[in-house]
Amino acid sequence: MAQKVLGWAAHDDSGKLRPFIFTRRENGINDVTIKIMYCGMCRTDVHFARNEWGNTTYPIVPGYEIVGIITKVGSNVGDFKIGDRVGVGYVSHTCLKCELCNNSKENYCDQMRPVYNGIASDGSVTYGGYSKMIVAHHRYCVHIPKNLPMDRAAPLLGAGITVYCAMKNSNIFECPGKQIGVIGLGGLGHMAIKFGKAFGHHVTVISTSPSKEKLAKDKLGSDDFILSTNPTQMQWSRRSLDFILDTVSANHSLGPYIELLKVDGTLAIVGEPPKPIDFPSTPLIYGKKTIKGSIIGSVGEIQEMMDLCGKYEILPDIEVVTPKRINEAFDRLLRNDVKFRFVLDIAGDQASRL
Ligand code: NAP
Ligand code: ZN
Repeated sequence: MAQKVLGWAAHDDSGKLRPFIFTRRENGINDVTIKIMYCGMCRTDVHFARNEWGNTTYPIVPGYEIVGIITKVGSNVGDFKIGDRVGVGYVSHTCLKCELCNNSKENYCDQMRPVYNGIASDGSVTYGGYSKMIVAHHRYCVHIPKNLPMDRAAPLLGAGITVYCAMKNSNIFECPGKQIGVIGLGGLGHMAIKFGKAFGHHVTVISTSPSKEKLAKDKLGSDDFILSTNPTQMQWSRRSLDFILDTVSANHSLGPYIELLKVDGTLAIVGEPPKPIDFPSTPLIYGKKTIKGSIIGSVGEIQEMMDLCGKYEILPDIEVVTPKRINEAFDRLLRNDVKFRFVLDIAGDQASRL
């Protein structure tokens, strides 16, 4: 039987969220039903809720950093059982037949449908993790290692996997000792520092916020900090970095950042500002530099990263909020005021902390 679910939805481009009752599909033979415990709040959720990319279908229930406990399994599901702690990320559907799907790159499948603001197999709009329960195809679920607390595991499904894969795709994890830059110290950026340091690199944060320098160095372990609004600091650091990860959510020019790359360096973009990014071609040509992008990661890569984070205790720094404070959290995300990821306590597990 299809079930009524309580969620939190935005209904227009003010992005304001309010309680919203909707229907989830019945648990099919390939599905698991998950009681959602926590959901991370990515800047992506705000982009969508406020229709900043111009493709939002209202009402929208955001949330793709979903963790919870399985309450039901379909008859075809062998890899999960009732009571398992699981995560669900951005992908809710792919063709499962194409070359990309067959090579664990299903996040790039042409038929990939996101877990919210997408079209479900029955033609309805998908609703995300700012809700009490979700029904997911088991193929898109991952196990959460026993030693990872569920609240801190949530952002790994989005912020974690996005920066992990962007770095992995540029072979950053293969040889330590590289000079790595991270532009933007938010949810994604702080995880990039953690992975960069875990894999033995020298990490430089490139930020617009002077107040973040101390935190970046003392709390997150970054080695250096460049204030991108200070031309002298930017000039000093010219041609100093092998790899730069751009996690910025706002419109910006790449020109000054490309100057920071060494010859042969790579700048990987994962932030998705509303407007197209502009960049000058001359420093690319004269420096043999590469600009590339990537989206989240495959389910296999999410499991690989989860297991690694469990083994080495690589965990996001979070602020837990209840759904009552959901709009306050959105406002603070917009004001660049979060250290470093909000996580919604959907099940009321930590109500006492508020
Ligand atoms: P976030 O926590 O808000 O962090 C973004 C950071 O960007 C801010 O902390 C800020 O860092 C910097 N920033 C903000 N405004 C800026 C400006 N005007 N100029 C320069 N820097 C600015 O956001 P997030 O959750 O990490 O997400 C970041 C972006 O990644 C979003 O666009 C999101 O949609 C995208 N994303 C992409 C993927 C993917 O698969 N590719 C996955 C998840 C998220 P400083 O204060 O240090 O400057
Ligand atoms: Zn496919």
